[in-house]
Amino acid sequence: TEFPGSGALTLAGVDFGYPAGPPVLANLSLTVAPGDHLVIAGETGSGKSTLGKLVAGLYRPASGTVNYAGVDLAAADPVQVRERIVLVPQEVVLVEGSVAENMAMVPGRPGRLAVEAALDRLGLTAWAASLPDGLDTGVGRHGARLSAGERQLVAIARAALADPAVLILDEATADVDPVTAARIEQTLAAASDQRTLIVIAHRADTIARGRLLLRMPEARLSDGAGRPMP
Ligand code: ATP
Ligand code: MG
Repeated sequence: TEFPGSGALTLAGVDFGYPAGPPVLANLSLTVAPGDHLVIAGETGSGKSTLGKLVAGLYRPASGTVNYAGVDLAAADPVQVRERIVLVPQEVVLVEGSVAENMAMVPGRPGRLAVEAALDRLGLTAWAASLPDGLDTGVGRHGARLSAGERQLVAIARAALADPAVLILDEATADVDPVTAARIEQTLAAASDQRTLIVIAHRADTIARGRLLLRMPEARLSDGAGRPMP
């Protein structure tokens, strides 16, 4: 099934548990409009990353559906799902190569100028220039020559270059300083009025930037002012 243009992300009656484990998500229903900014917060082990993976189509619900623009992810072409919905995971994986190469590892293979333009929008130009060989700096095996926060910046720049319809950041700025994190999150939220941004976070300032808040494990939705949503 082909995705039409952009649309809402809808979870309907989603149940999920790991094999032999207790239920992680039970009868979760939720709609996020295109362009909206949802923050998922809650205690360790409450199912935030699991929910992120379900939304990215990496896991299938045991029952219920995850839909984007009216298309059930379970029935969609996996290549299209990966292009439309991008998850920046808690643990970033980089490949041996340069910073620029790692950032450009997305469909369409953006060139150097596109990478530089994306960094400029994210406010990361000075950071990139400060690396030993700038964008040509080798990241080492699994990115071992970068700091944890720098690996996250590379992964975020890559996700921005992928320009997905739904972008999920799973504690993707947890190791980034708060000023840089704020600028990145504001840029990503403002990038497109059609892009849905989902941010999983523990940090209060990151949580406060969302327009909608989902509290786990109760999976209660509220607006930015803490008012419950239907
Ligand atoms: P954190 O804040 O620590 O990142 P989280 O809210 O993201 O936590 P999840 O990673 O979604 O939590 O885990 C939810 C539950 O599912 C936990 O009880 C965890 O032990 C379990 N779990 C997570 N991944 C797996 C897995 N691959 N196999 C089995 N159980 C898992
Ligand atoms: Mg997690």
